[in-house]
Amino acid sequence: MSENPGATESGAKTYAGGCHCGKVRYQVTLDLSHPVISCNCSMCGRAGTLLTFVPAGQFKLLSGEDSLTDYVFNHHVIHHLFCKVCGIKSFARGSGKDGPTVAINARCLDDVDLGKLNVKPFDGKSR
Ligand SMILES: [Zn+2]
Repeated sequence: MSENPGATESGAKTYAGGCHCGKVRYQVTLDLSHPVISCNCSMCGRAGTLLTFVPAGQFKLLSGEDSLTDYVFNHHVIHHLFCKVCGIKSFARGSGKDGPTVAINARCLDDVDLGKLNVKPFDGKSR
């Protein structure tokens, strides 16, 4: 049996990420062997974000809180944050079933080989 209770823990790593100009910087612990979501909704489809969701406790904003602009649409569940200097959406804040959640744009993580990500299409358009 391939069941390995420690697999999730051991695959999680701490990454640094942020926007283009460097105002917004964060640190996040996540497991990139898990699929990242390519959503086709009106927002993600345009921006091309590759999302992965983590509990807010695994995310730490190091700098740039005052450079973030908040954009909400649809059900106003997710706060789509972008840097007001360079316009990059490096993460978003939302609330999930288990409390505050952060959606990380995997494209904004340092030293990540995007070609190796397991990208999973998500049909957000029809929701
Ligand atoms: Zn920026």
